[in-house]
Amino acid sequence: MSDAPLGFSSRALHVGQDPDPTTGSVVTPIYQTSTYKQDGIGNLRGGYEYSRSANPTRTALEVLIASLEGGIRGYAFASGLAGQDTLLRAAVAPGDHVVIPTDAYGGTFRLFDKVLQPWGLEYDIAPIADVDAVRAAVRPGRTKILWVETPTNPLLGIADIEALAGVAHEAGAILVVDNTFASPYLQQPLALGADVVTHSATKYAGGHSDIVGGLVVVREDEALAERIGFHQYAVGAIAGPFDSWLVQRGLKTLALRMERHSDNAERVVEFLTGHPGVSKVHYPGLPEHPGHDVAARQMRRFGGMVSFQVRAGEDVAVKVCGETQLWTLGESLGGVESLIEHPARMTHASVAGTELEVPADLIRLSVGIEDAEDLVADLAQALDRLA
Ligand SMILES: *Cc1c(COP(=O)(O)O)cnc(C)c1O
Repeated sequence: MSDAPLGFSSRALHVGQDPDPTTGSVVTPIYQTSTYKQDGIGNLRGGYEYSRSANPTRTALEVLIASLEGGIRGYAFASGLAGQDTLLRAAVAPGDHVVIPTDAYGGTFRLFDKVLQPWGLEYDIAPIADVDAVRAAVRPGRTKILWVETPTNPLLGIADIEALAGVAHEAGAILVVDNTFASPYLQQPLALGADVVTHSATKYAGGHSDIVGGLVVVREDEALAERIGFHQYAVGAIAGPFDSWLVQRGLKTLALRMERHSDNAERVVEFLTGHPGVSKVHYPGLPEHPGHDVAARQMRRFGGMVSFQVRAGEDVAVKVCGETQLWTLGESLGGVESLIEHPARMTHASVAGTELEVPADLIRLSVGIEDAEDLVADLAQALDRLA
């Protein structure tokens, strides 16, 4: 092969996945083991000693996600939040300050507010679509992390990663991007200047609603990568071998899935924007979306997440969520099957009454890879009757 760097899907299928040296197995084996035979004390085979520190199936996933995000090191965790917690404890200390988004993922907000704040980490909330507001929230010398999600959940707000990397670096902080909604196929935050990327692998990376997992990738800071690796080992919130294998398998089809999620989302958005019962559609692919130009610059396509508001209000929004057949009422997102939910009463119930509160008439869709006609028809039967 030539030395030209491989494309995204070629890497998704081959990086970290050389055929198994013992058997030639083309698929990475699930090394369902806790410990490894030593050839004399301390004489380890390939560095494997105990599966909290390293396991070959997890290593395969960690090498792969580092390649797909364009970083030096990747780490796999038991959940997205376990990865975020490990990253934060490795990157900040009590007394430090961080800036987080107004519409942060609810679990991430809870981690900052209820776990890390009592531990001594201070935070301020800023609307991350507004670069000047973020700059004003940063405290030079004290702010260690600027934390960003883009697109955000559930309102699909867009942060300008390149501009915010500048804001973070001017203040001596690092920029962390939660890339869960876009996935590395649609968006490459590290190439835009972010220092660390996190994922809930539960969502698009795994892609099949069958695991809970987390990923963290570091762009170039070896010392930070070492600290995260140490905390992963010392705290132990690791991804198990089977979960690592499932995420690796999910990533093989990430490009295909994200193209289809995006195709279907565009069809659903077209239907919703034309429906008289819908007052507003939130999708960064719409030219009138306030973050459209930034999203068009930093994303390959606009992804599979869509939110919309129902003109008739909260009660009707709640009813619509209960009246679809193909769209399953449920939390989570990013799987091959389509999901519908009411953020104010479900995923975002815990932020009611805070600055992170979401509109009560909002419905969130995770558009799956079914046939677009069927997805539209199912929404139409519910909306035509109720909205
Ligand atoms: C789900 C999610 C998380 C948390 O991940 P878990 O795997 O549920 O722990 C973090 N960020 C975003 C954007 C998410 O959607």
